[in-house]
Amino acid sequence: MNKYIFVTGGVCSSLGKGIAAASLGSLLESRGFAVRMIKVDPYINVDAGTMSPYQHGEVYVTDDGAETDLDLGNYARFTCSPLSRDNSITTGQIYQEVIRQEREGRYLGRTVQVIPHITDRIKQRIRSVGDDHGVDMTIVEVGGTVGDIESFPFLEAVRQMIHELGKTNVLAVHLTLIPEVANGELKTKPTQHSVKELREIGIQPDVLLCRAPVSLPDDLRRKIALFTNVDMEAVVSAYDVQSTLYEIPLMYHRQGLDTIVLERLGMEFPEADLTGWQHVVDVVTGSDCTVRIAVVGKYIDLSDSYKSVDEALFHGGIANDCKVELVKIDSERIEKGDDDLERVFRGIDGILIPGGFGGRGVNGMVAAARYAREHDIPYFGICLGMQVMVIEYARSVLGFEDADSTEFAPECDHPVVGLLEEQIDVKNYGGTMRLGASHSRLLPDTLIRSVYGTEIVTERHRHRYEVSNTYRQRLNEAGLITGGVTEDYSLVESLEWDGHRWGLGVQFHPEFRSKPVDAHPLFRAFVGAARDSAHASSREAVAPALSEE
Ligand code: GLN
Repeated sequence: MNKYIFVTGGVCSSLGKGIAAASLGSLLESRGFAVRMIKVDPYINVDAGTMSPYQHGEVYVTDDGAETDLDLGNYARFTCSPLSRDNSITTGQIYQEVIRQEREGRYLGRTVQVIPHITDRIKQRIRSVGDDHGVDMTIVEVGGTVGDIESFPFLEAVRQMIHELGKTNVLAVHLTLIPEVANGELKTKPTQHSVKELREIGIQPDVLLCRAPVSLPDDLRRKIALFTNVDMEAVVSAYDVQSTLYEIPLMYHRQGLDTIVLERLGMEFPEADLTGWQHVVDVVTGSDCTVRIAVVGKYIDLSDSYKSVDEALFHGGIANDCKVELVKIDSERIEKGDDDLERVFRGIDGILIPGGFGGRGVNGMVAAARYAREHDIPYFGICLGMQVMVIEYARSVLGFEDADSTEFAPECDHPVVGLLEEQIDVKNYGGTMRLGASHSRLLPDTLIRSVYGTEIVTERHRHRYEVSNTYRQRLNEAGLITGGVTEDYSLVESLEWDGHRWGLGVQFHPEFRSKPVDAHPLFRAFVGAARDSAHASSREAVAPALSEE
């Protein structure tokens, strides 16, 4: 029978509940179990697609085209759980579904209420994921903090599931904070209150994950156990790891979290195999090679806005046995001329331009792409980053000074990037936004084909604009080579600079499929090229110049 593990959070937000849930998932997988991950979000938005990256971080796209919260990206990096729109549940979706049924008369005129109608629908959604054949455990991360008005219906649904399925089939894990006060003393009171609040709703946590700067001493764990009714061995210290977030599964394993969880769920279990995670940590702590990659984008102030890209670059580093240092560069500053490109890119081994919407900062990205091309610096353009390659090439090489995307300059004379419907008959695509996974055909004798080593690949899309078919041939002939197309050859999927060390753009988002233990081939190849170029240009010669400033 499928078992359920609910992960709730207390005291305050941003404690890393997503990483905790995902790490537990990876530990259970390391024991050979089939795990499914679900994120429950108490906001009323139906999905994260229309939420600002400034407020909400990256939008994570699944194969079936769902635009979800970035926590699903953590699940994808830490576990093998298949992810689709079923794995992301928001209050908005639940109410929308219940109201639709009410309008259809499905409730036969009865009063429709939070309990049982909303909670029933929540339970149904959660169970539909776990009902898949062969699933051993479903981990459900409940967004928000215990005590929030918004999360109450979800917590009530959790309480009901524990009651209905019994303690050996459902486990409640609660993540809390043990703050450190001025004299360095660790305080347990907020955790006591948070558990009290959870118990008032009717949920007794089985396991506590206590976030603190350091590992909790036994006397403190004993005290927490006494006040919260949780066994001392299940009061687990979630201390700050020193090397990388990918150490967290190992940190929990060292304290026996997976054993505790499996014993409570009455499961027999084999030894854990964590060699992949150990390798990741070994590279991060042991490698003496560092590759410096500049990410030129417009949402750089918020650390999570290109989360999957940043992580995929680290994965590319691990696959090349080196660390990756990210240098975030605001394309608007380049656009305004506030930054001198020579200075900005001094000591940089590779330049990446990620996806984005809207024209702000795009000319700064064009300048960065040009710099990479002219200085033979490895360049990787993703979605908007590939469209920028087209604009730059058309302007600098074809001499079309006003070349642009119709997204930013609808009236320009040379629309080298334009809306999907301007390129092909959109009936086949069922809408203007290309969202979710589709096949691409990689053409022979191209860099991208050699990187993947195969002709047909499946990657996820999230964009409205396409390389113009009117200019495609002229660009190709001038040296911006088409490396990939849609399966029917109708649209450009990838471009590369002829004669350049490593300059490649893709219309899709490979970052969503990269894992620390299995880097995406494009990120592996890009970081590898950056590492080789770093060696070629001799890091020693660069370092003194940087330290002078
Ligand atoms: N804004 C561009 C488009 O809609 C690129 C989108 C992206 O980078 N995800 O096509």
